[in-house]
Amino acid sequence: MIPVTSFKDQTVAVFGLGGSGLATAQALVAGGAQVVAYDDGAKGRESAAAAGLTVTDLRTIDWSGIAALVLAPGVPLTHPAPHWSVELARAAGVEVIGDIELFCRTRKTLNRTSAFVAITGTNGKSTTTALISHLLRVGGRDVQMGGNIGTAILSLEPPKSGRVHVIECSSYQIDLAPSLDPSVGVHLNLTPDHLDRHGDISQYAAIKERLIAGVQPGGTAVVGVDDDFSAAIADRAEAAGAHVVRISVKQPLADGIWLDGETLVVSEGGVERFRLPLTGIGSLRGTHNAQNAAAAFAAAHAIGLAYEVIAVGMKRFPGLAHRMEQVGTRGPVLFVNDSKATNADAAERALASFENVFWIAGGKPKAGGIAPLAPFFPRVRKAYLIGEAAADFAATLGADVPHEVVGTLDKAVIAAAHDAAASGVPHPVVLLSPACASFDQYPNFEVRGDAFRDLVRALPQEAIPA
Ligand code: ADP
Repeated sequence: MIPVTSFKDQTVAVFGLGGSGLATAQALVAGGAQVVAYDDGAKGRESAAAAGLTVTDLRTIDWSGIAALVLAPGVPLTHPAPHWSVELARAAGVEVIGDIELFCRTRKTLNRTSAFVAITGTNGKSTTTALISHLLRVGGRDVQMGGNIGTAILSLEPPKSGRVHVIECSSYQIDLAPSLDPSVGVHLNLTPDHLDRHGDISQYAAIKERLIAGVQPGGTAVVGVDDDFSAAIADRAEAAGAHVVRISVKQPLADGIWLDGETLVVSEGGVERFRLPLTGIGSLRGTHNAQNAAAAFAAAHAIGLAYEVIAVGMKRFPGLAHRMEQVGTRGPVLFVNDSKATNADAAERALASFENVFWIAGGKPKAGGIAPLAPFFPRVRKAYLIGEAAADFAATLGADVPHEVVGTLDKAVIAAAHDAAASGVPHPVVLLSPACASFDQYPNFEVRGDAFRDLVRALPQEAIPA
């Protein structure tokens, strides 16, 4: 845990008592603050009370005695409307911040120069965060990874010299961290997403930009420049004097890291310094992962790893669960768990990565369905449709794409495994990439992906007979 001392002997209100909210409250108490905690849900209130925290309805307290409101990132700060606790704090002139802000303030007092890599972007944050952490561990560094991925930031070990914090930041978390100042800031890409929470895309982009604009003097800003918003973020950071490393998977760069076929190229002043082939690295399949790999390469190098060490680490990256995770093979058939693909955009990356796909899709539908995936339908040998979206998806696939409404994942895995094994096509892949949320049949995408993995493991070890 990282005790937060900046509110010692003061009273702090904490709203939102899921995992990170509880960790925040405990870190504040450990640093000598009084905490009043609350949640709209009984479950959060009960777990806080069980952890020995003071649970009080924040509508009943005297806000003039409160030093700050610490908000969990899932609670609306601005859009669609500020949460009532935010309204109360604002009316009383109390600052509203999040756990990453508490970390930044604590790092300033403990060890301002300890390495702190912060990662954001619309897509690829978790993969890049995990990959940077993995590379740094291969390079022998003491790594603390968390934030929006895995462990809450204040549950990690404190900053100290020689230690690197690698922190995934959602835009909600950046919005709550006004003094975010990583030594290495990584911004991958920007596409419309979560606009319900951030207003329009320029507001969303402005929030992401704060992570890059905040990079400490002497630090490094790593920015993907393949969309216009992000390219402008890189230009402004450079104009403001930051050291910027650009990355692209769409165009050669005279300075930066770019993708030549399937090879990452490091260029400086128009001169190639290093080439790293990604071919055959199963956990980094697809152009989108090349973007993540390029960003991780730049970040690891900024921390001090040699190119050669990064290259070794890259080849050994095990990948993240539920993101094009290779869960096994049966005979020639590869089984891939991409349960994290909860919308068409994410499923597109998976479909684009394989030629002969036996595709398991469906769940709780998102607006737009799978119509935008039509250019990839020629890769689909057959689709197995599950959940609430099945009938709609069947209608979109129409007569041209073989498909079957199977209803549930267990039936889909068995049918797809048999068909793939019998198909005779080169490199058949059974791909769970649902393009849907999971909530109609599973509590979350992780449970759905775990179920897929278990079903695949329960298949006979031998090649499945037709
Ligand atoms: P995040 O943490 O930003 O949600 P993840 O690393 O968990 O991102 O990846 C989620 C999904 O997003 C992946 O399954 C993949 O389909 C897609 N994705 C990953 N990296 C990228 C990228 N750089 N660009 C576009 N899409 C990506």
